[in-house]
Amino acid sequence: MRYIHPEKFARIVSHARNTNPYYARTIPQNGPVPILTRMLLKEHNFEILNGNEPNSHTSGATATHVKVFINEERRGLDMPFISSMVQHMGGVLPRMEIMYPRAENPPFFLTIFTPIPEQVSVLQQNYLERKSVAIITYPSNAVLLAQEIIDQKLDFGFMQRVGMISESLNEQQTALIKQAFPNARLWSSYSSTETGMISFQCPYQPEFHHAFTDKLGIEIVDDQDNECDIGQIGEIVLTDYTNRQMPLIRYKIGDLAAFAKCPCGKIPHPALENILGKVRGCLRHRDGRLIHFLKLSRAICDIPIVRQFQVIQHELERFTMKLVADRSAEKMIVAAFTEDFGYTPRIDFEWLTEIPRDPNGKFYASICHV
Ligand SMILES: [Zn+2]
Repeated sequence: MRYIHPEKFARIVSHARNTNPYYARTIPQNGPVPILTRMLLKEHNFEILNGNEPNSHTSGATATHVKVFINEERRGLDMPFISSMVQHMGGVLPRMEIMYPRAENPPFFLTIFTPIPEQVSVLQQNYLERKSVAIITYPSNAVLLAQEIIDQKLDFGFMQRVGMISESLNEQQTALIKQAFPNARLWSSYSSTETGMISFQCPYQPEFHHAFTDKLGIEIVDDQDNECDIGQIGEIVLTDYTNRQMPLIRYKIGDLAAFAKCPCGKIPHPALENILGKVRGCLRHRDGRLIHFLKLSRAICDIPIVRQFQVIQHELERFTMKLVADRSAEKMIVAAFTEDFGYTPRIDFEWLTEIPRDPNGKFYASICHV
């Protein structure tokens, strides 16, 4: 199954073949258009940039950082899509954004590096002064806020919406956020540095996301690069119809999802479910296949003495586990790895009081370097 707009796809393919040396070499006359993996993009990064000065780069959960050129047109396209979803939620509310600093920060903005107790007091103050009843931040920050609010026994019943972008979160984290913000609607979106907004959580059916297929061609493929059926989890392959400076055509971004049918009946965009991947993370089994971090992550979250953790895979069988937890967690974590992988890799433990964020302000629970 795939969502490709034939004319838009043909237009960007023809443009890329005619103007970009990488695509001129790799896309044969009359197709088929090959898949561009993240590894290929990294290897041929400057050729694909085609003389454009990169204005952003990917980072975080995978070893394959790439430099990208983001076209101006994209923001103009993403905003109406986001606004239409916000309308479905009941319109815009006065909000605080707690994110990585941008070139120009709006007055309702707080940098992600603000200490949590200070974030809490700014949120309270903004509610009193300007009736700010919504937050947009990263899930990892929402979890820390929730923990602080619960620990301090504060009343955040005034918060109506908590929007979470860029990272994914698991059920335990969602439960904690709901406990701290009992009256808030939680929402999330899925985006990437390379392509911008990819999908937005359905405001009516939270298990589903609606994909932004006006701007992106979306395919989901299996290990053999064959199209997956509806409901079958596979790798996401994106074609950006609008980035003519640095075309990304049939780009396998390194995330997993399945196509789905959202029962809301109110939003025409096709639906995705089970979006997993570099955000929530994948690790590599010693037999070479990628495995979702989801199961191991759940097992670790279930250990009550673990407050925060990060898994880094350096080699197939060598990991570092950073933990904010009691040291008695070690045995249970080793057991969780053995259960998930079917063997016991080497795990070096680092015991910390806080796990630092990535320099871009995000937090990755798993980082895979192989
Ligand atoms: Zn829906």
